[in-house]
Amino acid sequence: MIDLAETKRALDGKSPEAVLEWAFGAFPRIGISTAFGPEGCALVAMAARIKPDIKIFTVDTDFLFKESIELREKFAAKYGVHIEVVRGEVSIEEQNKKHGLNLWQRDTDLCCALRKVEPTERVLKGLDAWVAGLRRDQSKTRADIDVVEYYERPEGPLYKVNPLLHWTRKDTWDYLLKNDIPYNPLLDQGYKSIGCWPCTKPVDADADERAGRWGGQKAECGIHTFMARKG
Ligand code: SF4
Repeated sequence: MIDLAETKRALDGKSPEAVLEWAFGAFPRIGISTAFGPEGCALVAMAARIKPDIKIFTVDTDFLFKESIELREKFAAKYGVHIEVVRGEVSIEEQNKKHGLNLWQRDTDLCCALRKVEPTERVLKGLDAWVAGLRRDQSKTRADIDVVEYYERPEGPLYKVNPLLHWTRKDTWDYLLKNDIPYNPLLDQGYKSIGCWPCTKPVDADADERAGRWGGQKAECGIHTFMARKG
């Protein structure tokens, strides 16, 4: 256990790199989850310089754009990191058989639970801390994230670390371009946030960042909301 209040005080105003360095030292069983959005790309590139053997995992829902798959392969090659690709226990065939074709058209919550949340939860069971590339100004659902958060679960405490919480979208892009970090080419084609192809659309330049996801019906898949935060 860490002293959460004291840790938040100590990390206040620190750079993302400093937060990562603290987290990698504080938690031996730590991993970064990413879907290789712009923030995830920045975070993985940053982390690879600090701790090249850091655990990195990504969920493959079997509904990803080919550009997203190519990007994660590019990252592994460019930064020499191992990227663990995890999938839901239920295959697409089993999902179709049990729930019918194109579940995302009828129940995005169930589809996301099977394809995204379940595999994420499974990986997190083996960790004491996870790092995510969330920003406070991405959406209302992320406005109250903290640099370190505490979650209770049967396996013991889980800490979530958000090194980029104070970044803006511009900060992210400045970092990517300055450091020549690869990003998803769909982001140059009107997409602002990229998930599965059935649930992701390009949006107008002035639209909210996550407006192109799930036709605006929801803003989160559940990966960042399935556990109740305790601190
Ligand atoms: Fe299914 Fe869409 Fe969720 Fe992907 S984003 S898991 S296709 S509902």
